[in-house]
Amino acid sequence: MAITKTDFMRGMQCRKMLWLDKHKPGLRVIPPEIQARLDAGNEFGDRAMGMFGPYEEMTVYLPGKKIPDKKAMAAKTQDAIARGVSVICEAAFINYNNYCAADILRKTEQGYDLYEVKNAPEVHEQFVRDAAFQYYIITRCGLKIGRICIITHGPCEENPFVTTDITQQAKGLYRWINDNIWDLNRMQKETEEVCVPDGEQCTQPYECWYFGYCHQTKAADKEIEQ
Ligand code: SF4
Repeated sequence: MAITKTDFMRGMQCRKMLWLDKHKPGLRVIPPEIQARLDAGNEFGDRAMGMFGPYEEMTVYLPGKKIPDKKAMAAKTQDAIARGVSVICEAAFINYNNYCAADILRKTEQGYDLYEVKNAPEVHEQFVRDAAFQYYIITRCGLKIGRICIITHGPCEENPFVTTDITQQAKGLYRWINDNIWDLNRMQKETEEVCVPDGEQCTQPYECWYFGYCHQTKAADKEIEQ
């Protein structure tokens, strides 16, 4: 069990959320409107792959499943880098089993620029953290990253891709990622359910899919106490 980009983002919102993902994922309830938003985000991401012209996509699925084969994707990515492919999409990297897949890597003279695609009208702080996690893993895999940018969804549907450079902010989070990734790695392996009191993190920045589970459990505990 290691940490993926999604694990990191969820674990930093709430440690218990990540623990439940690993130990009791069946308790998740994803509201239909959130699922629709995730699906729309995937479509926007697919459209963005071609924004810099011809590209190679690294996605590989496990045989007979719609689950990414991370090792095969990472190997395919290394091969694409060695061949000097100009635009690599879903470029995968593994460092000590920690994993990320970058939406778009675009070749430069020194290495690659990193683009993270978000189907949102503006850049939010969690997007910067998300890109910072990728920068951390990719850098530790030995690839030189120049600019780091977020692609958001602009108002023009013919050309909706708006680029914002967040290089400085994302690179500045390297130590913060390092300080937390190993702690989350340890925490998610704990056998006892992690205790976290409910609070702002249950809805910010995203509504938690375990909201019903945690709040029902607490209500039941209160009834027993009375
Ligand atoms: S509902 Fe709140 S306390 Fe429970 S896992 Fe989600 S964020 Fe954490």
